[in-house]
Amino acid sequence: MPELPEVETIRRQIEPEVVGRTIVGARILDERWTRPLPPAPIAGRLVGREIVAVGRRGKYLLVGLDDGSTLLMHLRMTGNLLLAERGEARRFGGERLYESSIEPKYLKAELELDDGRLLRFTDPRRFGHASLLGPGELDSYLDARIGIEPLGDELTPELIGRIAEGRTAPLKSFLLDQKGIAGIGNIYADEALFRAELHPLSPAGSMRPEHWEALREGIVEALEEGLRNGGASIDDYRDSRGEQGSMQDEFLVHTRAGEECPRCGGRINRIVVGGRSTYFCPGCQVRLRRRRRPKRRTRR
Ligand SMILES: [Zn+2]
Repeated sequence: MPELPEVETIRRQIEPEVVGRTIVGARILDERWTRPLPPAPIAGRLVGREIVAVGRRGKYLLVGLDDGSTLLMHLRMTGNLLLAERGEARRFGGERLYESSIEPKYLKAELELDDGRLLRFTDPRRFGHASLLGPGELDSYLDARIGIEPLGDELTPELIGRIAEGRTAPLKSFLLDQKGIAGIGNIYADEALFRAELHPLSPAGSMRPEHWEALREGIVEALEEGLRNGGASIDDYRDSRGEQGSMQDEFLVHTRAGEECPRCGGRINRIVVGGRSTYFCPGCQVRLRRRRRPKRRTRR
């Protein structure tokens, strides 16, 4: 499932290619892509618009249009956003073919640009989604769904402490909650907690200030490593050129059950937390205990 580094990799690739281009055709082939709204009016509103920006918040890709509206896309489980030459599967700037061709049934939407290229949203599992937000609607849409952007000045140790205060949820679940810190999924949560030397089952509210700092550093380092490697391709993720990322080769713990811990030499374990496979080293990731409130004296 694409997380912040995967979505940001796509954003960085696409932005210089599509900003300034006009959408001259829009085909939405799966009505689920725009649900609950029907696709035809949305396609109609896209045609003729110039792309003025390509942004990202959390795992959302944001294509800004010249009338102030935003085409917001979420890749969910298996979505990909590809920039292709018209009439061929060949990717721009690359040498290899994108799996020779896209399965037609996986193509959910296709935007034709005025230079002849196609921006294609493909998705085998069909959970990927798009919304066309009118001028002024973006902030409230995002504020209702996601929290702090982790790469930037906003995320401070103190803020992590404030978000975590009183939370009994395990740290793994805490990191996956998009309303707290946005953009972290299963891969980067494991990698961040390993770097922070924190056990994934530690209650979030049990962190002390030194742990807030360690967690902030762990999150930033894990996400930046993902970005440096063009994201992780352990399943369907491909970048906008149809190429795999290489972060999966750099995982310190994720998917490495039974292997040696790169820090202490212990064995990496796999457990399930909140229904998600979770990898960690029991030797060097500290399990914090829930902080007990002082006991009230009971009256007789
Ligand atoms: Zn270890």
